Amino acid sequence: IITFKDVVKRFGDVTVLDRLNFSVRKGEKVTIIGPSGSGKSTVLRILMTLENIDEGVIHVAGKPLWHEEKNGELQPASEEHLREMRKEMGMVFQQFNLFPHMTVRRNITEAPVHVLGLGKEEANARAETYLELVGLSDQADKFPSQLSGGQQQRVAIARALAMKPNIMLFDEPTSALDPELVGEVLNVIQRLADQDDLTILLVTHEMQFAKQISDRVCFFDKGVIVEQGPPEQVFTEPQEARTQEFLKGFI
Ligand code: ATP
Ligand code: MG
Repeated sequence: IITFKDVVKRFGDVTVLDRLNFSVRKGEKVTIIGPSGSGKSTVLRILMTLENIDEGVIHVAGKPLWHEEKNGELQPASEEHLREMRKEMGMVFQQFNLFPHMTVRRNITEAPVHVLGLGKEEANARAETYLELVGLSDQADKFPSQLSGGQQQRVAIARALAMKPNIMLFDEPTSALDPELVGEVLNVIQRLADQDDLTILLVTHEMQFAKQISDRVCFFDKGVIVEQGPPEQVFTEPQEARTQEFLKGFI
């Protein structure tokens, strides 16, 4: 459902993704691990169309993401094309990024109403469905500042789900949380991972959790995938020296 072909991303003269080849199958749960600055967030931000690419081609759900076919040629994607492509994906950030001046309910209904054109009632019904899924049905009228970090992150997950994406992207969703709040967020992600048809791409430093939910773990370093495989393999018998070195820091 996602393929990166020889993707290059530079910031100034720093090459952040260095001819990256990477793919994810529909329904697959893939975890990206790797040192700071290795390009993990950049991969997700490119998918979410928050960053452009310099070279290569990305496909999402069978269509080019950053390009559009016109007269049999690939052209840079139009805003409209990007908007359409974005609907395939929902993203949850490390910093929850909720709208502070809106209630929990409004946070969730905003995009379904304004991007998908849903009526207010239908959008509210959706908000209820997903708030229930994340265990926050009773918090709909609160503002983000009245919630704990774990609750805010669960609202952020409900907000992403309310667009009914086929792909969920998580960028270190528990890194900003107090340790006692990490579990409630991981539980929600675990519940999503149990849905066979939902594709999940997760960047995390929670190695135990990665082991538990992933079909595949990819170790990134310096903008390429150094090693990937089933979690049992990557975590217990990593083949590459760089992976071994990185994982040592987590035992
Ligand atoms: P971390 O574990 O710290 O989150 P990461 O693997 O997510 O790291 P990225 O955020 O993808 O790393 O960043 C990769 C590299 O790109 C870093 O060297 C970073 O400084 C650089 N970078 C990222 N965004 C920008 C930007 N907007 N402008 C300039 N450089 C950037
Ligand atoms: Mg990052």
